[in-house]
Amino acid sequence: MGVDFLGNHGLSIASKPWIKNYAIKKALKASEEGYQSNLKQQKFSPGECEDRYATSQAIIGSAERLLSNPKNISPTYVKKLADIMVKSVVMENGDIPTQQAFKALHGRRPPGFMVISPTKACNLKCKGCYASSSAASLEKLSWDTFDRILTESHDIFGNRFVVISGGEPFAYKDKVNGETKDLLDMVAKHDDMFFMSYTNSLLINEEKAARMAELGNISPAISVEGWREKTDDRRGAGTFDGILASMERLRRHGVPFGISLTATTKNCEELFSDEFMDYFFSEQQALYGWVFHYMPIGRSFTLDLMPTIQQRQWMWKRTWELIKDKKYFLADFWNHGTLVDGCLAGGRSSGGGYMYINWDGKVMPCVFVPYSPVNINDIYKDNKTIADAWEESFFERIREWQAKYLKGNGHRGNLLAPCFIRDHQDVMRQIIADTEPDPENEPAREALLDEGYRKGMIEYGKAYQELSEPIWESQYLKIKKTLDKDEVK
Ligand code: SF4
Repeated sequence: MGVDFLGNHGLSIASKPWIKNYAIKKALKASEEGYQSNLKQQKFSPGECEDRYATSQAIIGSAERLLSNPKNISPTYVKKLADIMVKSVVMENGDIPTQQAFKALHGRRPPGFMVISPTKACNLKCKGCYASSSAASLEKLSWDTFDRILTESHDIFGNRFVVISGGEPFAYKDKVNGETKDLLDMVAKHDDMFFMSYTNSLLINEEKAARMAELGNISPAISVEGWREKTDDRRGAGTFDGILASMERLRRHGVPFGISLTATTKNCEELFSDEFMDYFFSEQQALYGWVFHYMPIGRSFTLDLMPTIQQRQWMWKRTWELIKDKKYFLADFWNHGTLVDGCLAGGRSSGGGYMYINWDGKVMPCVFVPYSPVNINDIYKDNKTIADAWEESFFERIREWQAKYLKGNGHRGNLLAPCFIRDHQDVMRQIIADTEPDPENEPAREALLDEGYRKGMIEYGKAYQELSEPIWESQYLKIKKTLDKDEVK
């Protein structure tokens, strides 16, 4: 059964159990074959192959749960998910001829996708949110700039997948020839790309949910901080109930959605409890969950909210239990580097990396690395393209470091601790000192000058390397040596 079959028989798959079962069986077989092939090719360590296999099984598990109620996904979504996400993004990894042309010209593979925050505007004021931190801001990308970034990411990088962040993406608006255009107008214009948008969801009313179902190429990832008390404490009273109402609306219109979880020292045990996970994955029927660890950047940054190294290791163990035992599709941006070859920042040269552009047009290596060598508005004023931004030495140095890190010293680098800013703060500071990108905002400038922050982050990175290295060697590289009982997954 091919992807075309999936696309053309979306409604039947969603409504006829035997077709759904057939499709799932085929997908499981492909996942098994992919695992065997990865092991044979030895491109990844044995443990990475296992993680990739477990995740593909969980993706199938999540799809099976979603399809168990055909009303939860509109036929347009089945077709667009099959055509764009499965075919163009997962199987073909974007537009290969365009990527090859880029490599021939620039010597390296282009980024696999872009993350764009088109607006700083937000209907909420969450504690510690980086979006609310810069004082003087243009607040949003113009429609033309936003449109051009997407067009170039499609035509120059060969991308078919885009992540939209914020601010609140559904608050984005701009006037074009006297007409107000919003995010969904942009999604409609780029209908051969698939969008995933982080959102607090409160602006997703009936009209927006219906439009998304009709478009079929955008999925919201809804932020939840924990149960009602914790979510409302960070995001404001009434937010939790508003989220549940949005989820109900999305299900009713057949729009698949995910959840986005930010773990802190205070909520991580709650987020990954059986009750919380079962509630959002089984009862609310989230298709996927993205896990972030609080990153001390932005307004009132503090190291105290960043999960401790022990909590981080517990989250690593716990998320794999949930993925393997319950087949919940969860991806943790710091603990699951084993799924994606480590750090993705700066448009990584081995493929699959990304770059980030914020509402001011500042181009940055990653949403969590708030330093920018160039502004996309200046690039366009000078008649250059996004490829010129990609060529900046700040990004190139990051790509060089990633390649070296992956190679490691004697064995493949530890992908349990690959983060450029969280785990390798000293490396990041050296590259910033050499290439002099501008801080995105005042807190980012302060963080560079703050000795306590520098020391705290470097100590954290070293301590986590030490804690995770024995697991990396024994469970991923399968180097034989005796471990303490606690270190065993
Ligand atoms: S810098 Fe850290 S958060 Fe950003 S892509 Fe790399 S690993 Fe992920």
